[in-house]
Amino acid sequence: MKEKFVSYLIETIKKHRHVVILTSSMLLIVMNYFIMLNLKSNHLSFSHLMYIPIVITGTFLGTPYGLVIAIVSGLAVGPIMPYNLTTGQPQFWGDWFFRLLMMASIGVLSGMVGFNYRKSQIDIKDIKTKHPDSGLYNLNYLREIKLETKKVYTVSTLIIGNAQAICEVQGYEVYYTYLRLMADKFMKTYPDMIFIQPEIHKLWLIKPTYDFDLEIEDYVKFVQSSKYVDDLTLFIDFALGFTQRKHIAEKRIANYFIQSDIAATEAKAKNLMYLTFSDINTNKQFEYELLTDFEDALSNGQIYMVYQPKMDLKTKRPIGLEALIRWEHPKKKMINPDQFIYAIEKTNMIHQMTQQVFKWSLDYQVKLNKESIYLPISINISTKNLYDLHFYEKMVGIFKSYKKIKPNMVEFEITESLLMEDPENSKKMLQALSNYGFKIAIDDFGKGYSSLAYLAQFPINTIKIDRFFTNQVLINPTTQHIVKATIDLAKQLSYEVLIEGIEDKETADLLERLGCHSAQGYYFKKPAKEEDIMTYLKKYIGQ
Ligand code: C2E
Ligand code: CA
Ligand code: CA
Repeated sequence: MKEKFVSYLIETIKKHRHVVILTSSMLLIVMNYFIMLNLKSNHLSFSHLMYIPIVITGTFLGTPYGLVIAIVSGLAVGPIMPYNLTTGQPQFWGDWFFRLLMMASIGVLSGMVGFNYRKSQIDIKDIKTKHPDSGLYNLNYLREIKLETKKVYTVSTLIIGNAQAICEVQGYEVYYTYLRLMADKFMKTYPDMIFIQPEIHKLWLIKPTYDFDLEIEDYVKFVQSSKYVDDLTLFIDFALGFTQRKHIAEKRIANYFIQSDIAATEAKAKNLMYLTFSDINTNKQFEYELLTDFEDALSNGQIYMVYQPKMDLKTKRPIGLEALIRWEHPKKKMINPDQFIYAIEKTNMIHQMTQQVFKWSLDYQVKLNKESIYLPISINISTKNLYDLHFYEKMVGIFKSYKKIKPNMVEFEITESLLMEDPENSKKMLQALSNYGFKIAIDDFGKGYSSLAYLAQFPINTIKIDRFFTNQVLINPTTQHIVKATIDLAKQLSYEVLIEGIEDKETADLLERLGCHSAQGYYFKKPAKEEDIMTYLKKYIGQ
């Protein structure tokens, strides 16, 4: 209680220090004046007491205030004081004027000393707590932060994944200017935010929470819109991690950022703009439950295949099918392949899954053949499948038990990123599959960074242009040029070209005009179950 009162008192005095110091100095001046007036000449030394308010005011409030108090003091013991303090006679103007000058110079001097002292204190503090180049606070500053007990704070980590590249290509000064401009943008909306730069590529942000979801949105927006430095536009490969923490007085604040660091690192690894720590926990649990249920689901009918036709863009007839996996979970309802394949890929169950998918699609091929429908079926191969040295033997082993199906009725879709990861191994594996007679398609082409020239070394039959381009091709002339150039070059290299994700007639027509052979998309047919696709395909028989 007593301590609280003392710290409250100190805070109040600090806040109103001008009023406190000026009032005390004026009181001292008045007190001195009356002491001297009463003691007259006998106590000359009391005139020196006037220096006390002057020095105090100058030192603490600066030169202008020091000078004002010095003049007030000088006048008080000058023309206003009727006596010459030495002789008791009326004052000679030269005496008091000289004294006033002395006092004024002490006021100015003490003001300068105080100012320089305070400035050097600030400089020392800055050197200790600020990054010399970006001017943002460093880790030392964390010890100086005072958070309010029991308040909830939004704690976040911003990772600039390509910080090093920006520094090397554009220069350090550009990068640090970028950081400063971004900090300004944040601070404009959230003045109570504390911005810390613990590492060159990492920033920590902390502020009291008002609306967590809105803050997440704002942060992403601010980072995205901060890429302009003068007339340069930077490419910023960032990821944000968020968590919320209630401040408990004595905790080390740096520890608060452990969770947001984990969230940001995970977001970066998954190429997401942000993640919250609670998302990760929920995801981890979700992933764990999926893995536990997966093996049973493969055999109890929860997991099954759907098929999507691939269409010839000229004749508008189906020329093949893509097999796509589905999981109808009793509790979690429909789970997208995008949601569970990445989890399965982390375990050896991915091999079992691909083999099962292969068997199911071959089973379907048998059913189609019985109806005199002969179309190649593609299956998607995971990156991890090709790391299995016996992948080829296993696939061929399965295939051999379907005596009537020809190898060219099977196509394997492989993403280009896979070929980049381990080109030597992939080349050998693909060559073996291709020599056997299976077809190979490059999936999601354009999403990665490989060029067609690079792909020419692999035995490829088809290039599937990613549906990202399909969305853009009607509205964006640059995308149209890229797609056209890709189609032309792919044709020169004797690849079939398929475009994914066609959703309307206009896009289908445009791509036909651009010379694309085939397409897949909701416009023609959404992926559907066996019976549905069978009915769809039967319409084309005999036409
Ligand atoms: P993908 O190989 O690129 O498959 C095409 C995806 O695009 C499918 O999503 C399909 O439903 C969707 N799609 C087709 N046409 C359109 C369209 O017009 N508009 C839009 N917006 N989307 C369209 P799905 O089935 O959710 O599969 C997602 C991804 O999961 C696939 O992408 C593939 O990479 C993976 N996947 C699916 N089945 C398997 C599988 O059996 N094994 C492996 N390893 N991966 C699979
Ligand atoms: Ca595919
Ligand atoms: Ca694709």
